[in-house]
Amino acid sequence: MKTKIADLEFEPLIKADALDKRIKELGQQINADYQHCIPVFIGVLNGSFLFIADLIKQIDIPCEITFTKLASYYGGTTSSLKIRDDIDFSVDITGREVLIIEDIVDTGNTAHYLLEKLKLKQPLSIRVCSLLLKPAALLTKIEELKYVGFEIEKDFVVGYGLDYKEMGRNLKDIYRKV
Ligand code: 5GP
Repeated sequence: MKTKIADLEFEPLIKADALDKRIKELGQQINADYQHCIPVFIGVLNGSFLFIADLIKQIDIPCEITFTKLASYYGGTTSSLKIRDDIDFSVDITGREVLIIEDIVDTGNTAHYLLEKLKLKQPLSIRVCSLLLKPAALLTKIEELKYVGFEIEKDFVVGYGLDYKEMGRNLKDIYRKV
């Protein structure tokens, strides 16, 4: 069923049960890949807050979780290509195995920015896990992007943590702009 958020109309794209199933698979993969260490998960707020919570519940190896807050859309429907770094985190990642948890990789600028910043702290390894990827929108290839929930078209999406003008984050399914 279509839904309206502010001035835009959206239609369902990925249902909650499909999200659930895929996140369980990602969790199993991450458990297997990081069982030799205690990884540090860095969740990128705001858009990934539900994904981080659901993914972390699937992790059954010892791990640390921290958060950072970046913004690049500022209420619009396209990337501003300028990143605002709102909250830093306090965990020392030097020599640690780090997994960045993102809601969506669109142009790739945010992931690239964060990777370059974190690499300066010399982690042992660093990878990215993103719920969504828009391959047609990528401007920068992200070699570290090892886990992707769903590849989607170059559409603007909301729901399951993702917003339009700060609304729609509470929707259980993911919707795309009509
Ligand atoms: P990038 O830097 O890869 O262009 O964009 C990354 C950030 O832009 C994401 O973390 C997310 O906050 C925002 N973003 C990208 N595409 C979408 C979208 O389709 N919908 C929403 N709500 N945010 C998006």
